[in-house]
Amino acid sequence: MSTSTPSTGATGTTGETTITGQAGPATTTSPTSTAELEDRLRREPGSFRVLTGDRPTGALHLGHYFGTLRNRVRLQDLGVDTYILVADYQVLTDRDIADHLAEHVEDLVLDYLACGIDPERSTVFAHSAVPALNQLMLPFLSLVSFSELGRNPTVKDEIAHSRQSAVSGLMFTYPVHQACDILFCKANVVPVGQDQLPHLEVSRTVARRFNSRYGQVFPEPDALLSAAPLLLGTDGTKMSKSRGNAISLSATADETARLIKGAKTDATRQITYDPEHRPEVSSLVLLAALCQDRDPHEVAREIGDGGGAALKRTVTEAVNEHLAPLRARREEFAADRSYVRKVLRTGNERANAVAEATLDEVRAAMDMRY
Ligand code: ATP
Ligand code: MG
Repeated sequence: MSTSTPSTGATGTTGETTITGQAGPATTTSPTSTAELEDRLRREPGSFRVLTGDRPTGALHLGHYFGTLRNRVRLQDLGVDTYILVADYQVLTDRDIADHLAEHVEDLVLDYLACGIDPERSTVFAHSAVPALNQLMLPFLSLVSFSELGRNPTVKDEIAHSRQSAVSGLMFTYPVHQACDILFCKANVVPVGQDQLPHLEVSRTVARRFNSRYGQVFPEPDALLSAAPLLLGTDGTKMSKSRGNAISLSATADETARLIKGAKTDATRQITYDPEHRPEVSSLVLLAALCQDRDPHEVAREIGDGGGAALKRTVTEAVNEHLAPLRARREEFAADRSYVRKVLRTGNERANAVAEATLDEVRAAMDMRY
């Protein structure tokens, strides 16, 4: 297993995000634009490394699929070195106990495999299995201030939806352990949903400040958003595993129909695609459009004055048709749980090798090699 890093990513020079070496608390560099990033990913996939992941808090849903999973598979297929993290420790950010953890972890890996993640080309690993990754937490914590963490809008939102009796230190420091997850393998592209952008900004800050204080080690990672960066759930808020509003990839066709039938719409019969004024209806229209690879305005026009019932019929058919092959593959993989475990064991080994190499560099940079 090679522990080398991508050529440009390792030096932190990703187009517009070239690090000046002068970075300090007040200095920022702009993220690369999506169009430029996409262009460079196509032209030089070997210069990139992807890290992204999910918390094993429940079944993956359509928000994951259209928000990040499809991008991960696309990047893997382009030849980008791809790391996918099963963020098991981070389940404890917003709850006291991680229920059914082992089961959720296996389900997550099954969803990845069903979507087209290929463990020969992508490294799928568990957070808790990579101690050297977690060691980055101490130096990284020293690079952010208490008030910066308190201002993070995603942390605030997650605290508002938390099941914890009190906000734990793990919740408060969530963006910093995410920086460890991303930077341990020197990832320079992170395909995520919109909710993760403030977290990613912290990773960029941590990388910049570390490099400025101790010398160049980390790239400044760019977020890669999809065409559906914030898919809404059946209640009209962000589709989330933990909010009871999700349509999971592993649901049956009947369950899918039932969930979509119960989705929130509005009283206007004419269906339009207008995310700003009609977020619930538009999210359903977008879902059908994404499944059918069509323009959402065209989908809305076709439904016309058919109202919510016609919209929901269209969405149900589109989702079930699009997911049918994925669901069939998932069942095939589910028949051999030992394979799922093997995927994780192999991924853990690879991730450990990379993390040890990075930690070694960090110790050298910090003058801690005794
Ligand atoms: P939880 O409710 O447990 O926090 P979640 O559904 O928010 O679960 P995460 O594991 O927190 O899922 O997120 C995994 C990845 O999926 C992140 O990159 C996140 O931005 C993306 N994602 C999650 N929900 C959506 C959504 N509704 N639309 C687009 N992307 C999403
Ligand atoms: Mg979440």
